[in-house]
Amino acid sequence: MIITVAKGDGIGPEITDAVLRVLDAAECGLTYEHIEVGEKVYRSGNTSGIPAEAWDALRRNPVFLKGPITTPQGGGYKSLNVTIRKTLGLYANVRPCRSFHPFVHTQHPGMDVVVVRENEEDLYAGIEHRQTTDVFQCLKLITIPGSEKIVRYAFEYARANGRKKVTCLVKDNIMKVTDGLFAEVFRRVGKEYPELEQEVQIIDIGTARVATRPERYDVIVTLNLYGDIISDVTAELTGSVGLAGSANIGDHVSMFEAIHGSAPDIAGKGIANPSAMLNAACLMLVHLGKADKAELIQNAWLKTLEDGIHPGDIFREGVSTMKAGTAAFADAVIERLGQRPDSLQPVEMRGRQALQYQYQRPQVKKELCGIDVFVDDGSTTPDELAERLRAAAEGILQLKLITNRGVKVWPEGFPETFCTDHWRCRFVSTEATIQAGKADYRPIPMDAVLALLNALHGAGVEVVKTEHLYLFDGERGFSLGQGE
Ligand code: NAD
Repeated sequence: MIITVAKGDGIGPEITDAVLRVLDAAECGLTYEHIEVGEKVYRSGNTSGIPAEAWDALRRNPVFLKGPITTPQGGGYKSLNVTIRKTLGLYANVRPCRSFHPFVHTQHPGMDVVVVRENEEDLYAGIEHRQTTDVFQCLKLITIPGSEKIVRYAFEYARANGRKKVTCLVKDNIMKVTDGLFAEVFRRVGKEYPELEQEVQIIDIGTARVATRPERYDVIVTLNLYGDIISDVTAELTGSVGLAGSANIGDHVSMFEAIHGSAPDIAGKGIANPSAMLNAACLMLVHLGKADKAELIQNAWLKTLEDGIHPGDIFREGVSTMKAGTAAFADAVIERLGQRPDSLQPVEMRGRQALQYQYQRPQVKKELCGIDVFVDDGSTTPDELAERLRAAAEGILQLKLITNRGVKVWPEGFPETFCTDHWRCRFVSTEATIQAGKADYRPIPMDAVLALLNALHGAGVEVVKTEHLYLFDGERGFSLGQGE
């Protein structure tokens, strides 16, 4: 089987060579197609860090084992990881974080958590705009297929790897539409996995609990931004970020790497710890259906740790017996292939992390029932603005409310509310009954929206953006304004 390998920058070549030697010694049956990505490519003027010819190998082979990359400072260089992730559709980021007490110092000896992070959506879509002098926005995109895929992946992962519980972390008490969708998908898909314990937690208290009692978590599934943060928290809690590997899973290609960077401070000294990259390679083997080889290597690696053979970053007087350089550490693992640890829990790798997922777009009735018009005006009050808007919209649509930064400022706003120059003005059908707090949305024609925008423009109102309000099968597809 051919796999793509990039040795990367800094300590990358040293740790990659060490890992490939272990893979070969374990007779994993792999051959390597090497590609050059990273610093050298960036410096040659290619801002993506990947030469065009490397894409062929990346698309041809099922997996990519990637050494850490140095991203040059400034100069408009794009993140290689984000480019690869998005281009190849690597939708799931999986990061197991386990402690290796007492061989690696940690406050949480019993922790063994896997964070499954959605990798393509959320605020990381990178759709950002400045709309007024005061206000900047970033779009948070959450989709049904994206959520179903990652949630299903997390449950399948848990089932395949003998895990007991899946926790979904969201902020659906505030973001009822987007995070609410993710939680709803989790609860719906979860019904197909009755043997697994399931819980939904709010991300803030969830993060606090992960940081203080990580042993109560098993598999965590969450959105992109939350997952980015929480997976760093879990890696740090194990005692060393130098140990964890991560997988980026796609339908066609998957990428495996250490979570640490290229460590330029120790590059070329032969002292870097290859463990994180080795653990990434084991995730890769499981993904390739070679769980037996992953288990062989993991258990030899655990035995090496148990025997006190430790690279400098985890070396401790009294616990360690030998400070091993990169190559010597790899040799020690190779010598122990076939052995199992005595006191650390041995690894039993069962899972093949493949997912069969076909999205069936549901049939829904979608009806336009209003429009949010965002207006730039730095010299108005809510009442003055409402008066202008109502005069312009007369006979077309009626103004339901105005919010500023999401807070209702008209009708019946509070003078204490601080207002920027960015107003969200909600228009609904002229026939709708408007009562505070009660939604009465009824269908409107698109012509009314166009007529409204024309009228507002004619009245000198500066419209900076609009959002259509839709009912889906009669259900509101938008949030109410705070105070509405
Ligand atoms: P880093 O992870 O490279 O290093 C942080 C500290 O941890 C350093 O003191 C380093 O010596 C140590 N360390 C890291 N890996 C180690 C290992 N295997 N063995 C022993 N010690 C190790 O983070 P940084 O210094 O912030 O970043 C250096 C470069 O790496 C930057 O250019 C950054 O952009 C890049 N980076 C790349 C990736 C990636 O390719 N996935 C991830 C993070 C950072």
